[in-house]
Formats: sequence, structure tokens, C-alpha cells
Amino acid sequence: MDFKDYIRVIPDFPHEGISFKDITTLLKHGGVYKQAIDELKKMVEHLHIDVIAGPEARGFVVGAPLAYALGVGFAPIRKSGKLPYETIEVGYDLEYGKDQLAMHIDAVEKGQNVLIADDLLATGGTISTSVNLVRQLGGNVVGAAFMIELSDLNGRDKLPDIDVYTLMNY
Ligand code: IMP
Repeated sequence: MDFKDYIRVIPDFPHEGISFKDITTLLKHGGVYKQAIDELKKMVEHLHIDVIAGPEARGFVVGAPLAYALGVGFAPIRKSGKLPYETIEVGYDLEYGKDQLAMHIDAVEKGQNVLIADDLLATGGTISTSVNLVRQLGGNVVGAAFMIELSDLNGRDKLPDIDVYTLMNY
């Protein structure tokens, strides 16, 4: 199975010069989506994960089914102002733009093993902010899992002490 066959690459979206990797063309094929999650599960099941944390919105699409497959919890990481309970927040730069991410203060217990999951690793800004949030809550980040890595953007350099698991490289 070459998962790349199911990724649609869209030039100049959302800005000129960005080559957007669209995973919706993979997600709509149930068998391929399942295989992608099963493959990620095999890569991370040795990590003794307690909770998966995923940034909205595509981090939910990867993180939640992976959490279900592993039988572990899921903690949403959301844009500022969306979570109803008390939160901690961290600001960050995106590949294109700026934002602020938040988690509930009780989303992760101290000492829990946390895997971060998202659809795609680009510059690493989103994921290093997610790592930052989880660590502020006392969680132990045991790895980060993605469907896609854009290797040229060197996102891994922002995560020198974290094991990164990916299905596809561009
Ligand atoms: P980073 O913070 O620069 O690593 O960018 C990763 C975040 O931006 C992820 O949450 C992705 O969903 C989103 N993103 C950046 N580029 C793409 C793309 O080409 N396709 C899909 N999502 C992208």
C-alpha cells in the first residue's frame, strides 16, 4: 500500500508557494484510512501510552481513532477560546500565520505518558507548542505520530528529544 497514492497535492493553497497535502482523499477511502491508523498503531504501541493529545482539527482525525485503537484516552488541543473549562495556553508561529493553542488544565495527569498526534509535520511549530502544553501539565511526552512529514522543513529539529513516527515523507 502506497498511502501517497491517496494524498491530493494542491499547489498554492492556502497561499502562493505552499504545496498543500490534502488528506481528505485518503480519509474518504475507509479501508485505506483504517490501514493508515493500524500502521501508526503498530509503530507506537510499544510506548505505554496513557493519553493521545491532538491539535484541532486534523489532529483529531488522526489522534482519536488511534486512541480508540489503542484503548487509551484522547485529549483535544484547541485554538484559544474553544474549550469550556479552565485552560493553559501557549502562542506559536505556523507555517503560514500565528496562533494560540490551549488545553484543559486536567486533560493530562502528572506523569502520564502522552503521544502527540497530528496529520502533518511541517515546520514543527504546532507540535512543539503541543509538547510544551503537555509538559506544562506534567505529562511525559513519549513520541509524536503523523500521517505526513514535510522533511525539507526540518520540523524534527524542533523536537530533538522526541521520537517521531510518520507514514509518508515529502
Ligand atoms: P507546522 O506547525 O508548521 O509543523 O504545521 C503543521 C500544522 O499545519 C498541522 O496542524 C497541519 O494540519 C497544518 N498543515 C501545514 N501544512 C499542511 C499541508 O500541506 N496539509 C495539511 N495540513 C498542513
